[in-house]
Amino acid sequence: MRKPIIAGNWKMNNNVAATKALVADLAPLVKDATCDVVICTPYTSLAAAVEATKGTNIKVGAENVHWAEKGAFTGEISADMLVELGVEYVIVGHSERRQYFGETDATVNARTKAALAKGLKVILCVGETLEEREAGITAEVVRRQTKVGFAGIPASELDNVVIAYEPVWAIGTGKTATAQEANDTIKVIRDCMAELYCDKCAEERVRIQYGGSMNAKNAEELMAQPQIDGGLIGGASLKAVDFSIVVAAGK
Ligand code: PEP
Repeated sequence: MRKPIIAGNWKMNNNVAATKALVADLAPLVKDATCDVVICTPYTSLAAAVEATKGTNIKVGAENVHWAEKGAFTGEISADMLVELGVEYVIVGHSERRQYFGETDATVNARTKAALAKGLKVILCVGETLEEREAGITAEVVRRQTKVGFAGIPASELDNVVIAYEPVWAIGTGKTATAQEANDTIKVIRDCMAELYCDKCAEERVRIQYGGSMNAKNAEELMAQPQIDGGLIGGASLKAVDFSIVVAAGK
């Protein structure tokens, strides 16, 4: 019913040469994937990634986008600029942006709207910190991030936004949420989407990925959970074979 989507988040890794080499290794390994396959690359590698993935089933995404169309926003990139390059997806609200670059729920919402307005598909990240989990407020946090993130976004856009549930304490740490924990929190997010939109929308159209140290070893168990519709993969997306094993689990 909900087609799984496995997306790689390369973060600040892979220059143009490394991008060409990784796509060349990856493309044959994932060519028969039954899920959607996306690689999100640094801005400077996007053009090379779009070129290298032509004729393959791999889609290309950026790792951020600004909410304004243009103007005095030094160092930022607009949705139009990404579209011009042939980019189809963009990650918004990754926890590293929230943690290190002052991203808030409101800016996540603004970026998401701007990206959708230009026809980009958005991977909108939510997730609690370790302190929040230990304080027992995980559900409250992901519900707030979801509600504000989706404010003013019409139901007609639900096929164009993928939610990535990424517990901050599991990103790049080697600590994975248990499959049960991930499934339970994703259910909280899906229920929140049902409240915001409708039961059928949440059940049939809202894809929710898990992200946080997902890799070739644990992908199958995570993907077997009924609520998990794919993964946002950091470290393991930098190695073609590892990423292809995660992609194979995305069925
Ligand atoms: C991420 O960057 O979104 C991520 C989940 O990273 P990692 O897989 O390395 O934990």
